[in-house]
Amino acid sequence: MQIKTNKRMELIDITDRVRKELDETGVQKGICVISTKHTTTSIIINENESGLVSDILGLLEKLVPAHAGYAHDRIDNNADSHLKAMLLGSSETLPVIDGGLHLGTWQSIFLVEMDGPRTREVTVTVISSE
Ligand code: ZN
Repeated sequence: MQIKTNKRMELIDITDRVRKELDETGVQKGICVISTKHTTTSIIINENESGLVSDILGLLEKLVPAHAGYAHDRIDNNADSHLKAMLLGSSETLPVIDGGLHLGTWQSIFLVEMDGPRTREVTVTVISSE
């Protein structure tokens, strides 16, 4: 799926879009992998609550401040974006049970944009174990 992002850093809830792609496969039992091919985006699972979303962005900024003397900044000035993406990882894997994503009540799947705005590609791969 393609996702247009709007800010340099933001969390975008893609849970419904992942569910739709899973539904289209018809798989009832198996594994769903949600991955991103970009080096400055990540896939995470957490709660979609506005305060927490803001806290996550704040934590990333505190851990990896922009333009703090990184070697890669001489190439395209986005070393912090790569380093944040490395900390969060590029994919999540979920069980598929009874045709649905095995997520807890408060769990949502997010694309984390760390060098936007851009158009990003997220891949959903479903493996059946039936
Ligand atoms: Zn770069």
